[in-house]
Amino acid sequence: MQKRKVSILLLSLMLILAMFLAACGKSESTDTADTSKSEAEGFTPGTYTGVGKGNNGEIKVEVEVDREKILAINVLEHKESEGISDAAIKNIPQSVLDGQTLAVDIVSGATNSSKGLIAAITEAIKAAGGNIDELSKKQATAKKEDKEYTTDVVVIGAGGAGLSAAVSAHENGAKVVVLEKMSQVGGNTILSGSAYNAVDPSRQEAQGIEDSVDLHFQQTYEGGDKLGNPELIRTLVENAYPTLQWLEGNGMEFKDEVFTVLGGLWPRAHKPVKPLGTGYIDTFMNYIDGTNGEVEVLVETEVKELIMDGDRVVGVQAEGKNGNVKVTATKGVIIAAGGFGANVEMRNKYNETWPDLSSLKTTNHTGATGDGMVMAEAIGANLVDMGQIQLLPMGDPETGSLSGNIEQGVENRIFVNKDGNRFVDEGERRDVMTKALMEQPEQFMWTIVDKHSYPTGDTKNNFNESIDELVAAGRAYQADTLEDLAKQMGVNPENFVKAVEDFNKAVETGEDAFGRSLYDQKIDTAPFYAGKRVPTVHHTMGGIQINTNAEVLNKEGNVIPGLFAAGEVTGGIHGANRLGGNALADINTFGRIAGKNAALAQ
Ligand code: ADP
Repeated sequence: MQKRKVSILLLSLMLILAMFLAACGKSESTDTADTSKSEAEGFTPGTYTGVGKGNNGEIKVEVEVDREKILAINVLEHKESEGISDAAIKNIPQSVLDGQTLAVDIVSGATNSSKGLIAAITEAIKAAGGNIDELSKKQATAKKEDKEYTTDVVVIGAGGAGLSAAVSAHENGAKVVVLEKMSQVGGNTILSGSAYNAVDPSRQEAQGIEDSVDLHFQQTYEGGDKLGNPELIRTLVENAYPTLQWLEGNGMEFKDEVFTVLGGLWPRAHKPVKPLGTGYIDTFMNYIDGTNGEVEVLVETEVKELIMDGDRVVGVQAEGKNGNVKVTATKGVIIAAGGFGANVEMRNKYNETWPDLSSLKTTNHTGATGDGMVMAEAIGANLVDMGQIQLLPMGDPETGSLSGNIEQGVENRIFVNKDGNRFVDEGERRDVMTKALMEQPEQFMWTIVDKHSYPTGDTKNNFNESIDELVAAGRAYQADTLEDLAKQMGVNPENFVKAVEDFNKAVETGEDAFGRSLYDQKIDTAPFYAGKRVPTVHHTMGGIQINTNAEVLNKEGNVIPGLFAAGEVTGGIHGANRLGGNALADINTFGRIAGKNAALAQ
């Protein structure tokens, strides 16, 4: 019995030992699996670099990791456009760090910069041994939470018109909430060539240029085929210069010399010191940053509809990233949501003057989808001139954007077609030039300039791109002779040399076969440059009908109480063709008027 007990005990011990060994074996294999899994998801500690392709070239990042975590991401080099890519450069690395994930949202308005950054970070993390598949899986989104605000003035859209309105409303005593659907402020304004037309006694006099508010009025009215509302145009031309001074008073800097912008018809365009439209947006955002939250800008918040109380607009209903946002306005709502150049469906619905626009690219940012017009019409606002869509002959062949444009002003450049021939007065209206371009073989052209436009290789265009960079990237050609330039462009050299020679004669005589009247220098000094351009959708001139107080009118011509509008979302100013340089004057001037009137409304 004793013996049996012992043997049972032994047996049990052996069993326990066997189970223990089995368990050990099992745990050993589990451990191995875990280890391999954690190795796959973890990193080899260290610092790694990665490269991705952004909008303007390579983006290089440095990523530091320990065994479990991504510790730091530094953007070492990039060529992305200042102002436009800022949010992506800041937010993408931060989002990767915060979420320890590669499944981060693209920053709207900076898609290529965002993708380039994510690609660069991914490459570095791959080098660190990270499991890219796991890290790229979408994570559960944050808990939704609805929010409500009450303020004096609500502004829809944080482009030039909206921010101008917000600043002006605040200057007139209002608390303001600005709602912007994209991840960053700026809209089309920040991407624009940014020339600002205003009759400017001091600058123009210094350059010996004669001008008057009446001439600006006449050119705007007649240049728009007399379709624009004369009262609105009068308000624009009379207030353009005071508004420019107001911008300067808020810190905005313009260059000393005025120039003629493409389709501007007269040298009254002011060029900001900062590239593209960044100067305007920075000026407004600096002001807003100094208001201690009295002007609040909510990004990634898309307004869906206007809230009515009887016939009065009293607020907006929006969708934020983390829930619905309702803002009640005690004084007024200002629609400044821009045009619909990026909305192909709306373009096709309203287009009256062009052939089918479906396949054309656009200079616009992706948020230019006409939401403001749709929401205004839904509550009875009148829309005018919706069929008037402005095209430019100046689109980048790849993207449709204005970047890569080598012109530095109308006077010193010509256009030639695929055969090397000129085909239009290059100082003409934008619609005239674009129509002429559409009739050329394969619908593309070359812009030709010489050393007068680029005295040195590091001279920049309006888009902060130096001519050397553009040539190196293959976006422009450079040559010491016209014949060589013709060869690089693939155009007939005889035609091309003759086109330039004829133009140079016209500079001397003022007689031009195409009727051109705006000249400065001949194209006769190497290096010569050429850049390819195509038609592109640029500006929608129709929109919400307003009066000179920027109040929105209904279909009977009566004011809709509580509702104002400014900027590209409005119609009736530019008629059938907008003068180059008039948009920035328009959005700032009417934004300022709308802001003031909303703030002072009862
Ligand atoms: P403007 O030149 O008239 O100021 P912009 O294009 O510069 O026009 O600015 C319009 C702004 O309005 C853009 O930033 C755009 O993203 C924003 N926007 C458009 N629709 C909405 C919407 N539904 N809600 C909030 N913001 C919007």
